[in-house]
Amino acid sequence: CGIVGYIGTRDAYPILIKGLHRLEYRGYDSAGLALIAADNKTLNVYKSRGKVADLERFAQSKDVTGFIGIAHTRWATHGEPNDVNAHPHYSQSENLALIHNGIIENYSTIRTELESKGYTFRSNTDTEVIVYLVEYIQQTNHVDLCTAVQLTLHQIVGAYAIAVIEKGNPNCIIAARKSSPLVIGIGDNEFFLASDATPIIEYTDKVVYLNDEEIAKIERDKPLKIINLKNVIITPQIKKLAMN
Ligand code: GLU
Repeated sequence: CGIVGYIGTRDAYPILIKGLHRLEYRGYDSAGLALIAADNKTLNVYKSRGKVADLERFAQSKDVTGFIGIAHTRWATHGEPNDVNAHPHYSQSENLALIHNGIIENYSTIRTELESKGYTFRSNTDTEVIVYLVEYIQQTNHVDLCTAVQLTLHQIVGAYAIAVIEKGNPNCIIAARKSSPLVIGIGDNEFFLASDATPIIEYTDKVVYLNDEEIAKIERDKPLKIINLKNVIITPQIKKLAMN
C-alpha cells in the first residue's frame, strides 16, 4: 500500500524506515525493505508480517548498511498476509528485488508460462510475476534493467506502482507506475521515491510526479530520466512543494 525509496550519499535504512512510518496512515498488514549493502555486492531483503516496528526489530541484528534501498507496506490483495508474501520479492536468481502497489490482473497466465519454463515461485502474490518476468527478459533479450522493466510492463495488465533494484548495481533504481501514485523527490546528489510526498517533504521541496505508463531511471549523480511505455523520452516536470 506504500512505497519508499532512496538513493544518495546517506544511509538508506533510517530514511526508508522513517518513510514507512510516515505512510502508516494508509493502512497495511506487512512491511519490508531491500538494500544494496555498503560492500556494493550483497542485496539484502528483510520483510515480515505486521507493523513497521516489527520489521525494525527483525532487522536489528542484520546488515542494514547501504546508500540505496526500497521499502514497502503491503495491503494484501493476492496471497494471505505472511512473511513470504510480504514485499520486496526477489527474482528467481535473487539478483533483483521489487516492490509493488496495485493488482496484476493477468498474473496467473504469466506465472503458468514462466513455470513451464522451469521457474519456481516462492509466494502466492500477483506481484512476484513482475520481478521474475523482468529477470527472464534480461536474460533472454540481454537488455539493461530499465529496458527489461519496460518490456515487462508491455505484458502486464493491471495497476501498479513499482520499484526495482539490482544486485551489483548500487547506482540505479527503476520505478514505474500506472493507476497507482508515485512521486520522486530531487535533492542534492540524492533522490527520494514515495507513494505520496509525505515521506519526502522533510528532505526536499522539488518533486516530479510520475504519470501513467512512465518509467523513471533514477541514477546516482545523474539527472533523472523518464521514458514511457511507447518509448517516448519525457522531460521531467519539476514541481515545488509548499513546505510549512
Ligand atoms: N497485490 C499486491 C499483493 O497483494 C500488492 C498489494 C499492495 O498494494 O500493497 O501483494
